[in-house]
Amino acid sequence: MLPTVSATPAAVIVAIDGPSGTGKSSTSKAVAAQLGLRYLDTGAQYRAITWWMLNNGVDVSDPERIAAQADRPVIVSGTDPQAPAISVDGADAAGPIRTQEVTSAVSAVSAVPQVRARITELQRSIAAEARGGIVVEGRDIGTTVLPDADLKVFLTASPEARAARRSGELKGKDATGLAATQQALTERDKADSSRKTSPLKKADDAVEVDTTELTLEQVVECVVTLVEKASAEKAGRMEKAAR
Ligand code: C5P
Repeated sequence: MLPTVSATPAAVIVAIDGPSGTGKSSTSKAVAAQLGLRYLDTGAQYRAITWWMLNNGVDVSDPERIAAQADRPVIVSGTDPQAPAISVDGADAAGPIRTQEVTSAVSAVSAVPQVRARITELQRSIAAEARGGIVVEGRDIGTTVLPDADLKVFLTASPEARAARRSGELKGKDATGLAATQQALTERDKADSSRKTSPLKKADDAVEVDTTELTLEQVVECVVTLVEKASAEKAGRMEKAAR
């Protein structure tokens, strides 16, 4: 159970981006829970649309076929950091979107511009509805989805640390070894960073946090401090504007 502490002085939109295995999800959920904010896992949405394509026999190596179906799946994301949920066409997708089959296909599906346009629109409407503030984690949140976010954080970590973390998460679920995990992560990051439409990239105004040598608790503490500062500054600006 993640501890819930208190609401921040002003509702803030927080963008947390970075490659896989940097601790984005664990950090984002814990920060949101601690500060009473909503939480959105955008990777889960790309995984969900990929799962739908695979289930519906769409050739995921063919961008045109993916593009033609991009509007069909109905994706619903919950925003409770204590119990993140996702469904596709009414079916619970939380488990199936984490399979190796989905992980291997997700970069190709998420590189298709029609998929990105569809999912970006969904993400913006969820963020706009989160009146009390939200932490949105992904790859292009600070650069493309929410360029006016009140705080942008870009998490990094060495390839070794990222592979070790991801291997730990997969233990018991997957037979992939450390070297294979590292290779798969490197390939996914390369695909995500080199695609034409909104690649994985640090926003110019994002705060970079290298998590290699930090525990999850330390990363959370660091981001909570950044959010509290951003929230206090926003509250100050709002007060000034109201005078
Ligand atoms: O965060 P996660 O590893 O679950 O993301 C799965 C994939 O979804 C990424 O490798 C990337 O291809 C895609 N993604 C994206 N843009 C985002 C979030 C995820 O392209 N904002």
